[in-house]
Amino acid sequence: MGYVGRFAPSPTGPLHAGSVVAALGSWLDARAHGGRWLVRIEDVDTPRCPPGTDRVVLGQLSALGLLPDEPPIWQTQRTAHYEDALNRLVAAGQAFACACTRKQLMAAQGPRERHGELVYPGTCRPENGGLRGQAARAWRLRVPGGELHWQDRALGPQGQDVAREVGDFVLKRADGLWAYQLAVVVDDGAQGVSHVVRGADLADNTPRQILLQRALGLPQPQYLHLPLVLADDGQKLSKQNGAAAVDLQDPLAALQAAGRVLGLPALPAQALPEWLAQAARAWPLRPKDNPPL
Ligand code: GLU
Repeated sequence: MGYVGRFAPSPTGPLHAGSVVAALGSWLDARAHGGRWLVRIEDVDTPRCPPGTDRVVLGQLSALGLLPDEPPIWQTQRTAHYEDALNRLVAAGQAFACACTRKQLMAAQGPRERHGELVYPGTCRPENGGLRGQAARAWRLRVPGGELHWQDRALGPQGQDVAREVGDFVLKRADGLWAYQLAVVVDDGAQGVSHVVRGADLADNTPRQILLQRALGLPQPQYLHLPLVLADDGQKLSKQNGAAAVDLQDPLAALQAAGRVLGLPALPAQALPEWLAQAARAWPLRPKDNPPL
């Protein structure tokens, strides 16, 4: 199967300079490989997705000339697939129900934290006594021990011991919502995504996603994590630190700014379609043997 790439925005707000970098980078990599480019609206975390923002994001993409090769899909319409994947994992003994509240985990033992998140100590694993008569709250993947290695096309060789650094992670949350990790892996698999191109802030999720791909018998895509646009205070751009929505009055300027972050040279084109075509030819990760666009 050929190259399939995707841009998978969470419609928590309009696209900002950082998300335009991910959109453009994934589009360019797909075009430079002669591949297809898909758009997936990652709206599983419904309380964080204001109604109508999905349409705003799709409108911004089309104003930028970044048009998907197939109609977009919405994760909120795909919950049956997530349910099916979880059921298969549970049936295979690879996922288990968990009754722990954060409070209980904090109280149980000197909990280890990483990036402000508790490393799950395996409390409700079946071999540790399971639910012990309590009601199931969340569902977790049984994470195997040991260092996982993968190759990132920009960051180079990467490794993480997920069991030690994250623990058995959540697939379905206590509030009933599907976790990003499960939804992204099920959908990348269903859409035949061969190349994941996204912001470097998500690189840390990759080993969890590879473990899930293995547990579900899905192929492992290639990964490319793109440079981040930082806010003036050096933090990741986000709505919280006032990341401005991309200015659609001048889409070419927005693309040129994203192109600079991606390491593209200055391009002579003064119109959107020409600029995009020139950018795909100048894409630094363009395969050498690919026929000209
Ligand atoms: N929906 C995620 C986000 O907007 C991106 C997921 C991905 O590209 O894997 O941060």
